[in-house]
Amino acid sequence: MRATLTVLGSGTSMGVPTIGCDCVVCGSADPHDRRTRPAIMVQWDGHTVLIDTTPDFREQAIREKIRRIDAIIYTHGHADHILGLDDVRPLSFPRVTGGGKIPLYASENTARVLRNVFRYIFEADYKYGGLAQVELHPIDGPIEIHGATFTPMPVFHGDVPIEAYRFGSAAYLTDFSAIPDESMAQLQGLDILFLDALRHHPHPTHSTVENSLKIVEQLKPRRTFFTHISHDLPHEKTNAELPEHVRLAYDGLRLEFDL
Ligand SMILES: [Zn+2]
Ligand SMILES: [Zn+2]
Ligand SMILES: [Zn+2]
Repeated sequence: MRATLTVLGSGTSMGVPTIGCDCVVCGSADPHDRRTRPAIMVQWDGHTVLIDTTPDFREQAIREKIRRIDAIIYTHGHADHILGLDDVRPLSFPRVTGGGKIPLYASENTARVLRNVFRYIFEADYKYGGLAQVELHPIDGPIEIHGATFTPMPVFHGDVPIEAYRFGSAAYLTDFSAIPDESMAQLQGLDILFLDALRHHPHPTHSTVENSLKIVEQLKPRRTFFTHISHDLPHEKTNAELPEHVRLAYDGLRLEFDL
C-alpha cells in the first residue's frame, strides 16, 4: 500500500541553530538549515505512526497538524529521541483515541529508560488526570500496526546496539556508527533509506557524510536522505556536493513510498 513519510526533525541532539552559536549555518536565512531534533512520521490509510518523540515534538506536531497517533516506535533512549513523550498528552486523551491508550514500542533497554525517565507516567499515583495515556510494549521482533510491519534491526551507536527499522520499501537508521552484516542483509532493495550523517569530521557514536556515502554505495537504495545533521553541514552547499540520489533531509520533507 502507498504511504507517506514525513521528516518531523532532521537535526542533531542540540538542534540547529544551536543555543549560543554564531556560525554561518546557525545564522542561515535558509529554512532548510533550521533543524529540530530527529524523528519521522509514517502515515497510511488514515493511520499515523511516529518513530521517536523529540524535545521538539510539540512544535513538530503543530507544524504537521498531527491529529491522531496510532503508535510510537522508539530507536533508543537518548534524550533527543524520547523527551517529547509528555507532549503527546493532548493526542492521548479518550476524546481523541476513542478510549485506548497509545501503544509505545521499544526494545527492553529503551523501555527501561522510558520507565525511569517517565516514572510519573508509568508508576502514576497522581489522581487528577492530565497524564499521557500511553502503554509500553517491549519488543524483540517485528511490530504489526494496522496491516503494516515495522521490523527492528540492530545498529551500533558507539558500543551500544540500538534499533533501526525497515518498513516496506523504506528504512530509518539514525544514531549509528556501524551497521552489522545481518542488518545490512535486511536493507536490500530499498526505495528510501534514511542514514545518520552528523558531519564530515569523525565522531565516536555517529556516522559521517563520507561513511554514509559508502553505505549508499553498498546498499544502492533508489533514494537516500541524510539526517541527525549538525551545524557543520549547510543545506544547499552540502547537497551540491552530494550525488543526485543522495540528499540532506530537512524538517517537513514528505515522501511517498510502498509500505
Ligand atoms: Zn540522537
Ligand atoms: Zn552553529
Ligand atoms: Zn543517540
